[in-house]
Amino acid sequence: MKKIIIIGGGAGGLELATDLGDKLGKGNQAEITLIDKNSYHLWKPLLHEVATGILNEQADRIDYAKQGQQHNFQFNQGTFTNLNREEKQVIIENLNHESVSIPYDILVMAIGSTSNDFGTPGVKEHCIFLDDQNAAIRLRETLIAKFSSFCSIIDEHESTTEDKIRIAIVGGGATGVELASELPHMVETFGACGRNKMCSDLLDVSVIEATDRILPALPEKTALGITETLQKRGIHVLTKTMITKAESDGFYPKEGDTINADIMIWTAGVKAPDYLKDIAGLESSRSNQLVVKPTLQTTRDDNIFVIGDCAYAMQDSGRAAPATAQAAHQMAKICYENIVNMLNNKSMKSFNYTDNGTIISLHDTAQGVVKIAGKREMNVKGFFALTIHRLLYRMHQASLLGIFKTIRFVKASKEMYKNKFASIFTHQD
Ligand SMILES: Cc1cc2nc3c(=O)[nH]c(=O)nc-3n(C[C@H](O)[C@H](O)[C@H](O)COP(=O)(O)OP(=O)(O)OC[C@H]3O[C@@H](n4cnc5c(N)ncnc54)[C@H](O)[C@@H]3O)c2cc1C
Repeated sequence: MKKIIIIGGGAGGLELATDLGDKLGKGNQAEITLIDKNSYHLWKPLLHEVATGILNEQADRIDYAKQGQQHNFQFNQGTFTNLNREEKQVIIENLNHESVSIPYDILVMAIGSTSNDFGTPGVKEHCIFLDDQNAAIRLRETLIAKFSSFCSIIDEHESTTEDKIRIAIVGGGATGVELASELPHMVETFGACGRNKMCSDLLDVSVIEATDRILPALPEKTALGITETLQKRGIHVLTKTMITKAESDGFYPKEGDTINADIMIWTAGVKAPDYLKDIAGLESSRSNQLVVKPTLQTTRDDNIFVIGDCAYAMQDSGRAAPATAQAAHQMAKICYENIVNMLNNKSMKSFNYTDNGTIISLHDTAQGVVKIAGKREMNVKGFFALTIHRLLYRMHQASLLGIFKTIRFVKASKEMYKNKFASIFTHQD
């Protein structure tokens, strides 16, 4: 029986493992194994909600082992460290920190991306990144600890207008903007949970962007509308501000004064992990992604497919497919068909990315564009846009769990949210 190994159970990898398990695992046509360093999946586009306590990671997680049991794939928890193409083996570090080799006939790399600090001095040491669920939980704990100590200061001395918690976020893409827009709400909730002196007026949030506007993936008019919404909520949007250094007291721009900050967050771009660069002689891009053919097979090895953020898939437009959940999902679907076709000696399909638009959630509203058939652009705003944004997540869940389980999930998540949200903010000091 052919052994198919998928490394990374994220937006792309888990959908692929589920589809392959349902199709090939069920009839014992292939043995499918998913490998991930974590034991559960959380949809990455919602990490800023985990960081601000909006999303309940307990209720919204999907356990890989359980998913595998229900969809006929095996799960192996471990961290991918290397690849031996001659022997057709992946090397992983298991939970006992032992190095283990696992053989494959077909390998799919779906390990996503990590933050890119572009070599900016001090960023690694002083900034928080939003790379995975563990980082999001750490950020939430840091924020709550800061709010708590700030409360004690206010309790001891009368606060002055100078007293503020300064949070600086570098990167005006979707991650930075969505995170910034949740922070005032997080502080208000913290205040409502017994810290009555805490309110969003005590927060000083800046989104710092090197280019002349935030959200380059959106039309200028939409991005300006979002800038206005942020500014109305008291969030500073600093454009044309290139950060050259980070130190413990804040960010140092190329021009102008230091941007002092108590909490520094870096969301200014992504790259594939450094260890992927030229791994086992495979071709890689400047951002360490593995270069693939239109079939999503690597240019130098037909037995290795790559999907999601770690794939460099050049499109007819002359640009590579973007590092988004949307692209990861579309790649997972084509990769699934191609693997099934490969095993049945049928011809393979080409991956062509369809841009269905981008919606930015701004806590209680959202704004963006949807593209009809990848072409006609329609501006969306307010509750309608927010509903589509939530729907994207629920569609991802439905593709993994089915409609009925997703509905049960939504109900359970709402119930746990009510209890957990309060406990997150009341049990800290
Ligand atoms: C806050 C935020 C908001 C975003 N908003 C949007 C949005 O609105 N729309 C959109 O389309 N995209 C959005 N994105 C981008 C989107 O999340 C990614 O493009 C998408 O998740 C990529 O999917 P993937 O399958 O390639 O990787 P991921 O979903 O990142 O999954 C990678 C998986 O690989 C595992 N892994 C990593 N390294 C190893 C290793 N060495 N060994 C074993 N396992 C490993 C990880 O644990 C993870 O499960 C957002 C991202 C963030 C952080």
